[in-house]
Amino acid sequence: MKREPEWLQAGLDHIWLPYAQMKTAARPIAVRGACGARIILEDGRELVDGIGSWWTSVHGYQHPHLIDAARRQLERMPHVMLGGLAHEQAYRLADRLAAIAPGDLNHTFFTESGSVAVEVAMKIAIQYWRNIKGEARSKFVSFKGGYHGDTFATMAVCDPEEGMHALFASALAPQHVTDLPRDAQMAAQLEKLLNAHDDIAAVIVEPLIQGAGGMRLHDAQTLQRIRAACDAHNVLLVFDEIFTGFGRTGAMFAADNAGVAPDIMTLGKGLTGGVAPLAATIASKRVFDAFYDDDADKALMHGPTFTGHALGCAVANASLDLFETQPRLAEVKRLETALRTALDPLRDHDHVADIRICGAMGAVELTQPFDVEAARARFIDRGVFIRPLGRVIYLTPAYTIHDEELDMLTAAIQAEVAALAS
Ligand SMILES: *Cc1c(COP(=O)(O)O)cnc(C)c1O
Repeated sequence: MKREPEWLQAGLDHIWLPYAQMKTAARPIAVRGACGARIILEDGRELVDGIGSWWTSVHGYQHPHLIDAARRQLERMPHVMLGGLAHEQAYRLADRLAAIAPGDLNHTFFTESGSVAVEVAMKIAIQYWRNIKGEARSKFVSFKGGYHGDTFATMAVCDPEEGMHALFASALAPQHVTDLPRDAQMAAQLEKLLNAHDDIAAVIVEPLIQGAGGMRLHDAQTLQRIRAACDAHNVLLVFDEIFTGFGRTGAMFAADNAGVAPDIMTLGKGLTGGVAPLAATIASKRVFDAFYDDDADKALMHGPTFTGHALGCAVANASLDLFETQPRLAEVKRLETALRTALDPLRDHDHVADIRICGAMGAVELTQPFDVEAARARFIDRGVFIRPLGRVIYLTPAYTIHDEELDMLTAAIQAEVAALAS
């Protein structure tokens, strides 16, 4: 094996890594490049990527259409600010998102990260009620097992116990984090909560899959119950589709799959196919109209430096081209079937608590905690990159992954589960 590149140790002395105890974290693996569903390591080995760089790489790495779009945009201009200036890519992208987004979600605000997209959704929801009725509503209802970001407003709507943010509790605005209404009785609980408080601006939920909280699923009826409760109590509904958007659940958006349209939707992760950081908050006409006024005070006062970043928007447009011209949603269906065939049989295993599959996401929840670092090393020995979330080993591969590559991923999980028995 080749020696580690010199930059790794030099940088490790100075970089601060995400979600990592810097003293004890396993040494990161140096990567030279990536192609399709594969990561090419500095030492020459290749790993099949089961995660797709935090769920972003929906078309696979180095897709020529995305890379071309990025190159062409760089040659023109990486960016000019949207304050007073306009460029084609952000405007085209807003127009195209309006055409494909569920319901009458028609007005897009661009940010650079998912957490900020959720923050913008929360600001819009609060100001909506002030703009239309002069009401001071500042509270949100969200759900146990949920994850909406790492910033202060978003930490407050994450699961307070299972999330990573318990230590900040006293610094957060208290919100209502309750059970998903998985049945009529739980729906009554949600109704009761909405009834008891007249300061709730919106309900926020990750539709169909709660991702970072452990790839937990709920059904379309759950979302229909939430929609009905929001309508009955005149509260806005936000779908955080940062993970589920762009085909992951088998439809372009989970909202389409569930037949429910929210009032505000957030997008990120797969928006640029993993090429550039870009996120979006899309509001319905009804919500946007509450801001559209002669009164300057009714404007949305938000403006990240890089809002509508031209390079990011160019790649997002190219990604939408691929959804139009390539059979992406059919590929997700094919992946769903393959994941089911490979992972469902593990259900009978003593150490397996649950198998969850939805579109291009397959998860195996184990009954007990296990040594994640050791498992990661064994996965690498088997030629795959898989990064479990606690007791949940999951796959969120590129939709374009080849059958043999997917087989390597599922075989690695099967072997890992089998090894638990011995
Ligand atoms: C990843 C994620 C976020 C946060 O996005 P960042 O780009 O990491 O800030 C928010 N909500 C959901 C559902 C996510 O999966």
